[in-house]
Amino acid sequence: MFRSPRGTQDVLPEDSAYWRFVEAQARRQAELFGYGELRTPTIEDTALFLRGVGEGTDIVDKEIYSFKDKGDNDLALRAEGTAPVMRAYLQHGMQQRPIPVRLYSLINAFRYDRPQAGRYREFHQFNCEAIGDVDPLIDAEIILVLWEFLLSLGLQNLSVQLNSIGDQTCRPAYKQALQEYFSQHSDKLCPDCQRRLETNPLRLLDCKVPSCQPFIAGAPNTIDYLSPECAEHFERVQDYLKLRDVPYTINPRLVRGLDYYTHTVFEVWPATVGAQSALGGGGRYDGLAEQIGGPSTPGVGFATGLERVILNLKEQGIEPPASPAVVAYCVVMNEAGRQEAVKLTAELRARGVPCTIGTRGRSVRAQMRQANSLAAQFAVIIGDDEITAGTVTLRDLLGATEQKLPFANAVDAIATPGTGMINE
Ligand code: AMP
Repeated sequence: MFRSPRGTQDVLPEDSAYWRFVEAQARRQAELFGYGELRTPTIEDTALFLRGVGEGTDIVDKEIYSFKDKGDNDLALRAEGTAPVMRAYLQHGMQQRPIPVRLYSLINAFRYDRPQAGRYREFHQFNCEAIGDVDPLIDAEIILVLWEFLLSLGLQNLSVQLNSIGDQTCRPAYKQALQEYFSQHSDKLCPDCQRRLETNPLRLLDCKVPSCQPFIAGAPNTIDYLSPECAEHFERVQDYLKLRDVPYTINPRLVRGLDYYTHTVFEVWPATVGAQSALGGGGRYDGLAEQIGGPSTPGVGFATGLERVILNLKEQGIEPPASPAVVAYCVVMNEAGRQEAVKLTAELRARGVPCTIGTRGRSVRAQMRQANSLAAQFAVIIGDDEITAGTVTLRDLLGATEQKLPFANAVDAIATPGTGMINE
């Protein structure tokens, strides 16, 4: 028997209510902030991720699903959302549009990761990107879209972790300070960190190896090295967050190891767990467009994992609104009844009523059981007597009442709530 590939999931109808709820709120929040939906392909040139995410990152070195297609093209399954959005922005000349260009996407993404709770090989993200503007108001806006989205789902006890990593003007001095600090402890660092010390000391702060943690805890803070302009940008972002009472904490360990990231970095954490299970995060990436061959273009964005959001909804006992259930179930006993049921259900559907028909070879009792297990409100019974009389028997399964009605009246009674069912 086939099974879904490791690290992927089927979403069954009873669980899809969560997905529909989360996706609807994502669209609603993005659109409330003026973001337009962008849809990009599931496959891209592998080189887009090599350059846009960066060699030396886990995503590119270990996790990317890359392959050659039958035309010998180097392609990769989408590993994250930002590089494809920037690629589309440049490809379609969106620089010509009024800035910032505000874009959102709901995507699937693929990483060859070790599957565990909240970590999959195919997962889904809600992403927002605001491209073309350096205003700190936009950094705050991006954080707010994510924040308001999570609150709109009813999630509680979340916190925003915030940091600034400055820009090209202040980064060299900070890197040097890190190098000097970690060099004193280099013999006690893990082999990866010893390498990072030479290549990219910022990435040392991201290390998860327990024995490195005490050294990371004592490392210099980015914000102590910000240039006056970068410090001012960071202050403004915080001012806007304070205006909206967003509970943020400055977390000096929050960094992005790649040079094209600038200024703001943030994550949203649930109250009970640490960085491993961030609900989402993002930041400013003013150097990304150049990195993938475009003109210098600022940008800021976030990504949040929908599987993780749904896990948190379940942990907090938040139920999504119920999916529309079958309202009417036609119980039929013979071919003539089945034909009437095909016509009746077509009329019901034309009036927006979800309905279904019992299938061949099932007893009336089995059909009634199925109607009940689907939580249908009405059973529409079409037997021999009904066919002869040109009627149906309409049973209200919730009110336990029953009446015989002509075909057309039955459709009205079902499709118009509050009418039709008269206690006889
Ligand atoms: P990243 O693109 O790595 O910054 O991740 C952004 C968000 O996507 C994370 O905060 C998670 O919510 C989610 N995410 C990342 N990787 C995975 C994964 N392998 N499985 C499920 N969700 C993920």
